Amino acid sequence: MIDTHAHIYANEFDNDREEVVQRALAQGVEQILLPNIDLESIEPMLATEAQFPQVCRSMMGLHPCYVDGNVKHSLEVIHSWFAKHNFIAVGEIGIDLYWDKTYRAEQEMAFVTQLNWAKELQLPVVIHTRDSIQETLALLSKEQNGTLSGVFHCFGGSLEEAKAINDLGFHLGLGGVSTFKNGGMDKVIPHLDMDYVILETDCPYLAPVPHRGKRNEPAYTSLVAQRVADLRDMTIEQVDTMTTQNAKTLFRL
Ligand SMILES: [Zn+2]
Repeated sequence: MIDTHAHIYANEFDNDREEVVQRALAQGVEQILLPNIDLESIEPMLATEAQFPQVCRSMMGLHPCYVDGNVKHSLEVIHSWFAKHNFIAVGEIGIDLYWDKTYRAEQEMAFVTQLNWAKELQLPVVIHTRDSIQETLALLSKEQNGTLSGVFHCFGGSLEEAKAINDLGFHLGLGGVSTFKNGGMDKVIPHLDMDYVILETDCPYLAPVPHRGKRNEPAYTSLVAQRVADLRDMTIEQVDTMTTQNAKTLFRL
């Protein structure tokens, strides 16, 4: 399995990062993909990748919740990193209208700017949306020239939204939300196109049932896989094989 979205460089893991990676490997999670957040997360992310070079791969991007009045400077610094290091994706990027709409225009500018980096660098993008799937799809469809690929991470939307995302050539990242009883995903997951499904945790956030509310970790990717298997009448091995292949193709692993 591949945990395609994990913040194990966060300080929540400072006391037991080695054990967390060992538990993931023991659970069959062979690769852990690290999305960047802002300027402060770059150093711990790259240190974590260097500590586990066989397992961890980094992305580079500016998360919409960290777009503020300094966005131009942040983007300059983040862009400069692509010349210094190999990254598997531009991420995580996107639009978040849940917490704060103050910098909405700046968020849109940062998102479109980073989509254009992805085109130049020929890298997939990892997209974060919250209360903003329609806005994000509108911007993405304007920028989609046939070369953009990527994933809407932490997908918890409707089947119609899933189809619109797939129609633009984009994948769906399923995580802990898929296991929530009140999440509504039991109605959606059985009908998804499995060619576009990849697995993730988004740890330390959004731990799947039965760890909901506690710290999440990459080993729990298997709980998401089991949930997808149960809802689709598949074995966990089948879900593992399909989603791992999808992730390998998308991120060229
Ligand atoms: Zn994230």
